[in-house]
Amino acid sequence: MSAGRAFREAARARGEKFYISGELCSRGHAGLRYTANQTCVECSKDQQRRADEKRRQRRDSDPVYGEHRREQRRVANRSYGKRNRDKKSAEWMQWFADRLQRTPKWADLKEIRKFYTVSTMLSRLTGMQHHVDHIIPLRGKCVSGLHIAENLRVIPEFENLSKGAKF
Ligand SMILES: [Zn+2]
Repeated sequence: MSAGRAFREAARARGEKFYISGELCSRGHAGLRYTANQTCVECSKDQQRRADEKRRQRRDSDPVYGEHRREQRRVANRSYGKRNRDKKSAEWMQWFADRLQRTPKWADLKEIRKFYTVSTMLSRLTGMQHHVDHIIPLRGKCVSGLHIAENLRVIPEFENLSKGAKF
């Protein structure tokens, strides 16, 4: 029985996880071995480190890919928004109004969307930015309007800005 094997048997008998083989491993480490499978602890740590490094590299390279994907989505969204500006702003305003809970269940969403379509058309035709304005602001000082067709009108941008929320 080689010295290494004897040491291992002894370690196993004592229930020890590691033993010293007294021989160099194939990579020249003279340190501990695992009792269970004679693996060089130093080599196994090396392997672990290499695996960690590989995972880290993958993690590091994935964000690049992720960023690339994000940019792709951004571009796609941007051109969608350009092609469907009225739809986009209607959606946004809808979301805004929803949040303010100023859109009653009975609101005619189709009618509402028309205002945004008109606003976009007017902006294009006149070259002047138009907005959909809430006649009674959704968040007025005293009264709050509803996000309904009856409370909407299309006005040039500067008018919308100068009005403010005075109700
Ligand atoms: Zn080794």
